[in-house]
Amino acid sequence: MSKNAIDIKGLKKVYRGRGGAEDKVALTGIDLEIPRGSMFGLLGPNGAGKSTTINILAGLVNKTEGSASIWGFDIDQNPRNARANIGIVPQELMFDAFFTPREMLEVQAGMYGVPKAERRTEELLKAVHLLDKADAYSRSLSGGMKRRLLVAKALVHNPPVLVLDEPTAGVDIELRQQLWDYVRELHARGTTVVLTTHYLEEAEELCDTIAIINHGEVVCCEPTEQLLKRIDEKEIVITLAETLDGVPNALRSFKAHVRDAHRVAVQISQADANVGEVLAAVQAAGLTITDIATDETDLEDIFLQLTSSQGEAA
Ligand code: ADP
Ligand code: MG
Repeated sequence: MSKNAIDIKGLKKVYRGRGGAEDKVALTGIDLEIPRGSMFGLLGPNGAGKSTTINILAGLVNKTEGSASIWGFDIDQNPRNARANIGIVPQELMFDAFFTPREMLEVQAGMYGVPKAERRTEELLKAVHLLDKADAYSRSLSGGMKRRLLVAKALVHNPPVLVLDEPTAGVDIELRQQLWDYVRELHARGTTVVLTTHYLEEAEELCDTIAIINHGEVVCCEPTEQLLKRIDEKEIVITLAETLDGVPNALRSFKAHVRDAHRVAVQISQADANVGEVLAAVQAAGLTITDIATDETDLEDIFLQLTSSQGEAA
């Protein structure tokens, strides 16, 4: 038995272009191991191939090449067992608008062959804060409620692996917190959780391991802490009262460049400098700081950093 919840090997997907459109390579042949018990983040910008990966596991998209197994069951050789071990919350809110949440969970449980006595409809509705909407038409639910209903639906057969594809899309902040609390609780009780996101902060906050995917390739896959150490570079922008005609001498030893007549940007990484040292140098030079801002690290920066550091290592 594999110790991984999910094993992906050489997975490739080419969407065939129809009516003269060009073929689209969505996955180039990726390897990915998702350990049992982990809270795993699949992080990447829009179009990276996250949903394609998830939808192949869900049996919604046919792969072009490679293999995948879930809880040790190959999706081709053992599709029933593979499916029984995973619950997937798709990115798209696909709904039968005329079912109520209660009916939807019952139908889903029926499809997975869960005996009536073992169904957890009430418990699940309560867990996702939808008990008061149990008998409302699903089409009357808000986007956030629909998302939570899909989480409940993914759990009717009590799978050991839960996958959430961009779960925060359309979910407001308060309900997002409730959703995360519930996901964390499931994880604490032993469920392996996989989520895709294009927000670094989200993956950083929730996941113990992060794989970054870009243009259908896995760029890296490592413990969150280790990854964050590698991408700790930030830019601070210092506004000075004085007019600049170049990088002030005091900042020559840092990675600094002039933004405009009053602003200078400094790249800092914990490995070689900290904000305090930069500010001390500016003040020691007798310059007057009128404002300081930091830029959030965005995914594009991270890819650049990761790919350039790989280049150096090679
Ligand atoms: P992500 O979920 O990371 O945003 P997707 O897996 O949805 O990325 O898409 C990966 C790439 O495959 C994108 O370039 C997207 O346009 C393309 N793609 C996705 N689904 C289809 C499809 N059904 N037909 C053709 N191209 C598709
Ligand atoms: Mg997607």
